[in-house]
Formats: sequence, structure tokens, C-alpha cells
Amino acid sequence: MDCDKCDDEAVMHAAYSGLHMCADHFCRSVESRTRRRVREDNLLPDDASPDDPETWLIGLSGGKDSVVLTQILHDTFAEDPRVELVALTIHEGIEGYRDESLAACRDLTEDLDVRHELVTYEEEFDLRMDDVAVEDPMDMAPCAYCGVFRRDLLSKYAAEYDADKLLTGHNLDDEAQTALMNFFEGDVEQMAKHFDASLGAFPGAADGGGDRDGTPVRVSTDGPFVPRAKPLRDVPEKEIALYAQLQDLPAHITECPHASEAYRGEIQQLLFDMEENHPGVRHSIMAGYEDLAAMAARAYRDGGGPEYGECERCGATTTRAVCRKCSLVEAVHAAD
Ligand code: SF4
Ligand code: ZN
Repeated sequence: MDCDKCDDEAVMHAAYSGLHMCADHFCRSVESRTRRRVREDNLLPDDASPDDPETWLIGLSGGKDSVVLTQILHDTFAEDPRVELVALTIHEGIEGYRDESLAACRDLTEDLDVRHELVTYEEEFDLRMDDVAVEDPMDMAPCAYCGVFRRDLLSKYAAEYDADKLLTGHNLDDEAQTALMNFFEGDVEQMAKHFDASLGAFPGAADGGGDRDGTPVRVSTDGPFVPRAKPLRDVPEKEIALYAQLQDLPAHITECPHASEAYRGEIQQLLFDMEENHPGVRHSIMAGYEDLAAMAARAYRDGGGPEYGECERCGATTTRAVCRKCSLVEAVHAAD
């Protein structure tokens, strides 16, 4: 089968658009969807200036999503003096897993000449995920601890580096799964929080719990939190994997030994089957979800919204006396 845009051989067929694309046209399409999202989310404000560049902090795990995000942002902004990219890798203390992906992060950032920072749960919280998974004092999935710890560090270092935006590599599949999980649990408040987390107005899932991540809609600079954005959220996971492979990017693909999101796995299978039979369903879920989440967030704010204070232990912005991260760290240490 030939590419629909030239005579070269197609390497992929996107059922949701009906397009067959060769390697070259496919890669350009991934890049243009990512750049369009950056534009439409107004990530780069009109008044950004070379004298006072914006700092964008990228959560770089070394997996295909964050590696592709870093590469495309670099290709887009390397020559643009208004944006400075910083990549942050978080080492959770998972033997044989994060060490390898850290090597991928180092290769990539050295190659691109992007500033790279590393923080570890061990140094920050005096714990390792390998031990947390065994001790499990709260009787929950390892990812439920790990997600809270990771979001805490992303926020903390975004503030520390004076970042204007915090960018993560969530793809279309991640986002549609999270949206469905919120629907299925009837969790409208969670939708509202996730919407506002992307506005930098609420802490989102960082305090709300579980292993969810926010589903952002667009960003503004209101509120006490660094605005978050997910420029790959229009690109299906499979296409990101293909892009990484075609561009020969140093992505790390092994699965974490503690990955345990059984419920997300069920949703993933459901969405996979739906997409097979009804191409485009992930895109339409997200379009509807974003509108609903925006309405929910408005209603939530009109109702007064949450009241923020500072965590008694660490000073992080929270709606509780002691933030979720500090409670979990204390529970883990108490079980030692
Ligand atoms: Fe942490 Fe779970 Fe991701 Fe492993 S799969 S790194 S435990 S969130
Ligand atoms: Zn705290």
C-alpha cells in the first residue's frame, strides 16, 4: 500500500483518519499534531521575550512518550530564545528498571544538549519503591504511592527551577483511559480538579489521591500551581512507539516490575476493542470529556472551590493539615 501523500510505501494506517502514511509523512504528522497542541493550548504566551525566557520543565522518565516529547520540543524550540527546556528524571528506587531508563534519558539529553536534572525518592523521602512495594502499609497498589510521590517532586522542582510550565508525555490512550475511569467511578469532582490542575489553579491529583493523572484542557497562569500541559495528548500510544522506533530514539521499553493498575488494564482493553470496532472513539471521548470537565470545574469554583493551606510538615500547598505525600511517607517509615 502506498502513502496517501506520496508514492512511498506506507508504514502505517490510521483507521480513525483513514490515512496510509510513509515513514516521512507519518513522522511529520506526529510533529505537527504536537506543535498544534502547543499552539492551541497557548503554551507560549504572546509576551514571551528572549530577555526573559520561559522555563519549561519536562518530566523525562526515559520511556517512549517522554523521550518523544523531549525530542519534538527540542526540535521546535532549540533555536527559539523565548523557551528554555529543562528535563527532570525521577528515580523511584526500582532495581534494574529505572537505571536503564536513566541511561536513555542521559543519552537523549546529552545528544540534544538539554539541561538534565535527576532526583531520587531515596534522597527526597528516604525510601525506595522496591521496599514500599513489599511493606505496603496502606494496603494499596505500589503505583498509588508512587504517583503521589512523583507528582509531589514534579511540583516541588517546577517551583524550585522557577518553571513557567510543567510538561508530561501523556498520550491519547492515557488520557482517554483516565477520562473513562472518572466516568465509571462517577467522579465529577475529580474531573473538575483535573481540569483546574491544568490551569495551575488546583493541585489536582497530587492531593486527590490514587494513581490518576490529570486530564488537562488548556493552560493559563492563574492560581498557586505551575500550569501543566500534555502536548502529546492527541497522539495514540502506538503512533508514539512507531515514531520513537522510526527516529531511532533511545527510549526504554521494559515494564516496571511493580506496575499493577489492574483497573486501568481493564479500561485499556475495553478502549482497544471499542477503537477496533469504532475508529475515532478515543478522540471523541476526549472532546466530550474536556467540555464536561470544564463545566464541572466552573461549577466547582462557583461553589467556592477548595481552601488551601500549607502542609504542616513540608509546606506544600494542600487542602489538608498534612499533605498526602507526607502521610504516605510517614506510613512507610512507621512500617520500617
Ligand atoms: Fe511507579 Fe507504578 Fe510507574 Fe512503577 S508502574 S514507576 S510503581 S507508578
Ligand atoms: Zn507535606
